[in-house]
Amino acid sequence: MAESNIPKRQAMTIDVEDYFHVSAFEKQICPSSWSGQRLRVDKSTRRVLEIFDKFDISATFFILGWVAEACPQLVKEIAAHGHEIGCHSMNHRRATTQTPDEFRQDTEQCLKLLQDLTGDPVIGYRAPSFSIDDSNVWAFDVLQELGFKYSSSTYPVKHDLYGVPDWPRFKYQRPEGIWEIPIPTFYHWGRQIPIGGGGYFRLFPYWFSKWAISSFLSAEQQPYSFYFHPWEIDKAQPRVEGASFKSRFRHYTNISSMEHKLENLLRDFSWSSMSRVYAIK
Ligand SMILES: [Zn+2]
Repeated sequence: MAESNIPKRQAMTIDVEDYFHVSAFEKQICPSSWSGQRLRVDKSTRRVLEIFDKFDISATFFILGWVAEACPQLVKEIAAHGHEIGCHSMNHRRATTQTPDEFRQDTEQCLKLLQDLTGDPVIGYRAPSFSIDDSNVWAFDVLQELGFKYSSSTYPVKHDLYGVPDWPRFKYQRPEGIWEIPIPTFYHWGRQIPIGGGGYFRLFPYWFSKWAISSFLSAEQQPYSFYFHPWEIDKAQPRVEGASFKSRFRHYTNISSMEHKLENLLRDFSWSSMSRVYAIK
């Protein structure tokens, strides 16, 4: 296969939320108690900015509106570092649990907040927990109407909390007009292996991720995109009591080696923001 057709740059994305916003802990830390939690997202996101500066890369930060309200200066700093700002909903409610009106209100509130803080249009959206599927395709209509140009909200894998295994695997234009950029999967051993980042990246040894990403690039000749969260490099975050073994395993596995793995990933591939890599204008 022609080496020259392999995309030169891949998309680096960060979902900016704190450890207590994750869906897996929603029963232990309900949204009404978020304001009483000690924030860690500002410090861990600034650490991400330092790491990105070290490797001289720009990325896309999908920011939770709740975080933007609590840390407005952080949003301005991310933008001042030259990164793209995207929207990750206001309160991390899965789109599958909202009515179209609730979804519109929530998304519009976050969008306005981010645009007011940066003074620039926000064109990218990522649903909390990749929560767009067959049950709520109306979400694409809402995103299109709000002026988003692209979404990266679907994961074509089988998973107990999310996933659209039969949906497209690569960037495509929805009938609603908006572009969808699915989280990458690697087809191997007769199944789709999730290789987009987050918990799976922490779980797999780095050599495996590197091999899977390289194999994806040469087999598919499509850009690759990676996602992670600032809390994944926050070794000192409080441990949430009372969550299930599965939730705790997914959240805490290999947190201590994440930053080192991430630096390897930043060194081994070339990175830029989602809108640049996927040529969204
Ligand atoms: Zn999230």
